[in-house]
Amino acid sequence: MTDCIFCKIGAGEIPAKFVYEDEDIVAFPDIQPQRPVHILVIPRRHIVSLAEATPSDEALMGRMLGVANRIATSQGSTDGFRVIINTGPIGGQEVMHLHMHIVGGPDPVGPMLKRV
Ligand code: AMP
Ligand code: ZN
Repeated sequence: MTDCIFCKIGAGEIPAKFVYEDEDIVAFPDIQPQRPVHILVIPRRHIVSLAEATPSDEALMGRMLGVANRIATSQGSTDGFRVIINTGPIGGQEVMHLHMHIVGGPDPVGPMLKRV
């Protein structure tokens, strides 16, 4: 997709420091880290969101989870981590290209959500 920042990162048109890359997937630090470890895992191919993914994307998304696990450990979140996929307006998704946030570090990430 021409106007998508994460497509451009995946294509190497916008610089990002890849901590992982293969033919289909890249991972790089979030530009505004919320935790000591905060990495984004994205498919190079444009998928708008988890809500728009189809069964044909499921193998790729499974691989992204495996990558997320290995990166979390290698990036220093050795005793667990959290994977977040913000989806659509209710989920607070700002970049409309599917991505997984891996957040962690030496200390617990904390409560998942504030109580309503
Ligand atoms: P979300 O709210 O799940 O759509 O989060 C999008 C994330 O992308 C935010 O945490 C941003 O800080 C991050 N982000 C936006 N642009 C870049 C960029 N060029 N490089 C790295 N992370 C980015
Ligand atoms: Zn895209």
